[in-house]
Amino acid sequence: MPDAFETRAIHVGQEPDSSTGAIVPPISLATTFAQRGVGDHAGYEYARSGNPTRASLEACLASLEGARHGFAFASGLAAEDALLRRLRPGDDVIMGNDAYGGTFRLIARVHEPAGVSWSAVDLTDLDALDAEWRDETRIVWIETPTNPLLTVVDIEAIAGVAHARDAIVVVDNTFATPYLQQPLALGADAVVHSTTKYLGGHSDVVGGFVALNDESIADEIGFLQNAVGAVPSPFDCYLVLRGVKTLALRMERHCENAHVIAQMLQEHDAVDRVLYPGLPEHPGHDVAKRQMRDFGGMVSFTMHEGEDAALDVVALTRLFTLAESLGAVESLIEHPARMTHASAAGSPLEVDAALIRLSVGIEAADDLADDLRQALDYTLA
Ligand SMILES: *Cc1c(COP(=O)(O)O)cnc(C)c1O
Repeated sequence: MPDAFETRAIHVGQEPDSSTGAIVPPISLATTFAQRGVGDHAGYEYARSGNPTRASLEACLASLEGARHGFAFASGLAAEDALLRRLRPGDDVIMGNDAYGGTFRLIARVHEPAGVSWSAVDLTDLDALDAEWRDETRIVWIETPTNPLLTVVDIEAIAGVAHARDAIVVVDNTFATPYLQQPLALGADAVVHSTTKYLGGHSDVVGGFVALNDESIADEIGFLQNAVGAVPSPFDCYLVLRGVKTLALRMERHCENAHVIAQMLQEHDAVDRVLYPGLPEHPGHDVAKRQMRDFGGMVSFTMHEGEDAALDVVALTRLFTLAESLGAVESLIEHPARMTHASAAGSPLEVDAALIRLSVGIEAADDLADDLRQALDYTLA
């Protein structure tokens, strides 16, 4: 039996330093490593290719995703780019129709000009996936729950379809984290993360990660990590490792608080629809219950009175800070149509201007509910 998740988060890749006994993996800043003879070294040659702090992070996160291989990158988008660079001109990607705006931009504006075709479909509808399928489709790119609509996609069902047709499934597990959802165990071929979010958890580091089991894809990703060089600094690796130690505890509180907030929003007259997979009436609730341990810390909702009311609310909260990003200890609020998803305007991924997205932090739930309530009340006055 491997150790439990919480234990591995603290110990895997982080044994006390063999020469000094240091309990915390040192931030290993050396860019080059002495060789005893040509090619005879302790596993490290040059720090872009690999360094001890990054190796600690890669071992730890791979373990948490139940993966044989893990690769750390300088950002979530750099990690995504490595998976997409495996494609050749003529290859096709199918992504969900509310993918993260940056993912959409990367595929549509960087990889499409390089000859990759794509389509965006509602991945909760297997008939729609079937209709968009092409002989050239190589990747189905899933986010679940999605950003910002919190749509839940059935990973196992999509993997079944994709594997029958020789395509791979990539899951962006940023919103759920490996604590709540383990895509590889559900049949996905690769997991990608923005470690900038819950894994780092403190809004102080940008990073990305790829986890997978397949040896030949791992060889390609390892090659690209070194050949392209979008690698995280040792200090960044240290910060993510530090964040991950408390991931389980933080996620439990994020989920608890998000439940409280979702319920409060449902009861407020200014609010039209609340999008949270933990609500029994959410269309993805049953799938989420099956494939997730809990429902996460992200909550979105729409205002009855449209965009103006939404802009008022995001300006009026005091504890929920108006800012992009998500997944850290402090609560954030944002307006996707004008902020995180502005680049999707006019595309199939354009979002409702009445929508507000919350990253519910780990402050006291009552303080958070009071803060939101006063902002919502104002719009009714
Ligand atoms: C933030 C985010 C990304 C991009 O990650 P960066 O670290 O900002 O490059 C990708 N997917 C999701 C779901 C995200 O929230």
